[in-house]
Amino acid sequence: MWEMKLNISRDLQNELRRFANEAECYECCGLMIGSQNTVARLILAPNVAADTSRSFEIDPAYLIAAHKKQRAGAGHIIGYFHFHPNGVTGPSERDAQLATPDGMIWVIIANKQLSAWRAVNFGAHLGRFDPLEIICSA
Ligand SMILES: [Zn+2]
Repeated sequence: MWEMKLNISRDLQNELRRFANEAECYECCGLMIGSQNTVARLILAPNVAADTSRSFEIDPAYLIAAHKKQRAGAGHIIGYFHFHPNGVTGPSERDAQLATPDGMIWVIIANKQLSAWRAVNFGAHLGRFDPLEIICSA
């Protein structure tokens, strides 16, 4: 049974907002490292999608590097984050199509607000995501 919450510190929430501010009009994106439902750190990665204003694709080199570190015991990939420059909160249709229902946590930044989701089968949002409550852990 998945927990329906995400613990993320004020500092890390502000770091996500900073990434979004700096991106302005493209979808910045990256990885969240931590354990279970707690984010320990963020890795900003290049967006290699064809149209970065409307979609994102994390640079595979960053994914491979993070998986290698995970195997070496240096931190677990618990999910992904990205920014919606159009201000729409929550995962888009495109996000739902691209997401694997693997229990990974998705954080979306829009209008300086964060929302958190878990990619699952038969999710409440677009059939792919269940909403998570964000707990400010420090
Ligand atoms: Zn999106």
